[in-house]
Amino acid sequence: MTQMEELTTVASPPATRLVGLETRDLSAWFGDHKVLDRVSLTMAPGEVTALIGPSGCGKSTYLRILNRMHEMVKTAKLAGQVLLDGGDVYAPGRRPADVRARVGMVFQRPNPFPAMSIYDNVASGLKLAGIKVAKARRDELVETSLIKAGLWTEVRSRLRSPGGALSGGQQQRLCIARSLAVEPDVLLMDEPCSALDPTSTRRVEETIAELRGRLTIVIVTHNMQQAARVSQKCAFFLASHDTPGKVVEFGPTQQVFEDPRDARTADYVHGRF
Ligand code: ADP
Ligand code: MG
Repeated sequence: MTQMEELTTVASPPATRLVGLETRDLSAWFGDHKVLDRVSLTMAPGEVTALIGPSGCGKSTYLRILNRMHEMVKTAKLAGQVLLDGGDVYAPGRRPADVRARVGMVFQRPNPFPAMSIYDNVASGLKLAGIKVAKARRDELVETSLIKAGLWTEVRSRLRSPGGALSGGQQQRLCIARSLAVEPDVLLMDEPCSALDPTSTRRVEETIAELRGRLTIVIVTHNMQQAARVSQKCAFFLASHDTPGKVVEFGPTQQVFEDPRDARTADYVHGRF
């Protein structure tokens, strides 16, 4: 590759501008089953927003709608809007892959490619997004992503070891690094610590704290202490057997926990559900 060719394949420079995400009257169905009802939330640029609520109230569905992952379910239908930096994520002609490159996702169970090296796992984030970069830039992105994910010092001497050789908590931070490789605007995390021991959980929380202010984060968690520790805003979702998931309460985390507007929020955050 000539130097000129290398230059033209280098990814655009890192976005320094923080970008927010918003839903307006977002409703969702699986077939005839309505699972979300007019959810309107604003996830401010650079903030951590926690989504809390009992199982089955639509938190994962909501998260997947934010980066168009729910489209993989054929029966899924939507109404309302998702705005990324003010632009409609579902605008005609907008490609789901482009949205997913701006809005990354980390799941409950760490899912690195176990046989693939640590380096290649992180670099695969670029490949999956269809982003081609020269080797020097790739090296740089892998290193900075691992630094941001809080894993660099633990793996720098063994970047060629398989991802599957890492502990569960390290694998989760590897998945975070993989998502960060494309320098997304938003990182979605669906119960990222539910499968982790307390020490690994703490490390992932440290990573989230480190990322706060660098990009916009939305995290689903069942751990109320965790929501209180990591988030600035908190949304409480609730559904019942005959009513779809709704946001009962949304506001600054401290207020949601200490001075909620709705009695059901107080019951939930104090474990009385
Ligand atoms: P939570 O993450 O809050 O536990 P989910 O978003 O997973 O809730 O689920 C919300 C509702 O949507 C539940 O009633 C669940 O059964 C239903 N649901 C989730 N995924 C699917 C799917 N792929 N097909 C049909 N129904 C689904
Ligand atoms: Mg869920």
